[in-house]
Amino acid sequence: MKSRFCLAACVLWLVFAPAASPAAETRCPFDETKLEFVGTPLEQARCLLRPVAEFSRLGQPLTTLPRPLESLIGRRVTVNKEKLERYLEEHDIQETEIGGAITNVLRAKYFVIHDVSAPNYHEQSFPTNINEADWKWNDLNRWRSDQAAHFFVNRLGQSVAPHTLTTPWRATKLEVRVLGEKSRGLFVHTELIQPRRADPQGHPGNDGIAPLPGFTEAQLDRLALIYLVASSEHGTWMVPAYHAAIDAGIPDGHDDPQNFDLALWADRLRLLLNAVSAEPQPTDERKINFNRR
Ligand SMILES: [Zn+2]
Repeated sequence: MKSRFCLAACVLWLVFAPAASPAAETRCPFDETKLEFVGTPLEQARCLLRPVAEFSRLGQPLTTLPRPLESLIGRRVTVNKEKLERYLEEHDIQETEIGGAITNVLRAKYFVIHDVSAPNYHEQSFPTNINEADWKWNDLNRWRSDQAAHFFVNRLGQSVAPHTLTTPWRATKLEVRVLGEKSRGLFVHTELIQPRRADPQGHPGNDGIAPLPGFTEAQLDRLALIYLVASSEHGTWMVPAYHAAIDAGIPDGHDDPQNFDLALWADRLRLLLNAVSAEPQPTDERKINFNRR
């Protein structure tokens, strides 16, 4: 999401700030005929998951992605839907948390990761309870009617979906300002709850600093589940992308997500896939029968 406090001060910052690195100016090339970024899905992901530093500075495209992303993206999803359904039931996860029924068919190709960048604590430190239920921004009722994205995920790993997964919804400058209506429905947007505070080196009112580490494991676990569900409905593993990389090169581009640990997210996805694919645990009766042998 964007800074909500950047007005005239941003203009001054843009005038006097040091020149951006060449990488920040370079958008991953987009083919408007095919309505997709250029390259194989894996090549696209390596560009769209470039590290995002403060004030939208982007690193170079990655040479490899952490496992299992490198071996999944663009390939057919082989996770059994019955096993996925059972996993959701066992963990009491409702359709309202994952954007609808997993039997839906999703056309979108891109899985965009954001952070809400709110609230901005300005010169204050972050509260010590941001990962706890009593931090008011973790209350999903605050986000339930926010139309900005398909999903909001709080720092406890709970999610809410203001739009169903299959609702065509735009949330980036690339979609709204550059591509227009034809891009509607190409992207799924997930906002991770994360506060910001001001960087004393930045312009007045900036929200450059995010907590470190950025996101909780529970938050990354839920993001992995939403990615699995979306890819399963799409049929192949979607291309994950950071919002800042999607909007690279567009004036006033966003700087989210900050402090996203891609290796940790990939590892949480690996653990999720193991858990979903695991055979059912023996019931108590079967355990008893086994013990009697
Ligand atoms: Zn964003």
